[in-house]
Amino acid sequence: MPDCIFCKIVAGEIPAEIVAETPMSIAFKDISPKAPLHVLVVSKEHHENIAAIGSANPAAAADLAVLSRQVADDAGVTDYRLIFNSGPDAGQTVFHVHGHVLAGGAIALGFE
Ligand code: AMP
Ligand code: ZN
Repeated sequence: MPDCIFCKIVAGEIPAEIVAETPMSIAFKDISPKAPLHVLVVSKEHHENIAAIGSANPAAAADLAVLSRQVADDAGVTDYRLIFNSGPDAGQTVFHVHGHVLAGGAIALGFE
């Protein structure tokens, strides 16, 4: 998708600190971390949000969930939050599906 920043990261056109990868997804550190662990799990295919990818490619949506577990394991974290902002009023700013893997600090205490 032209002008999609996460498509450009997937294509290697924009640098990112990639921490894990599967055939369908990549995980990289959020550029503006909100918690001690803040990694984004991102599909290689462009879909606007988690519902869209869940409809179009359920295996790719599931891959994001499985990859989040691997990211947490690799970071030495047992429990974590996986958040998919869906729509601008919910805080979505990048319209390429991504889950926020968050752990540590206040983020682990509950919903803000
Ligand atoms: P959302 O607001 O849910 O759409 O989340 C977008 C996230 O992408 C934010 O937490 C940003 O800090 C993050 N972000 C934006 N650009 C980049 C980038 N080039 N590399 C890593 N993370 C980014
Ligand atoms: Zn994209």
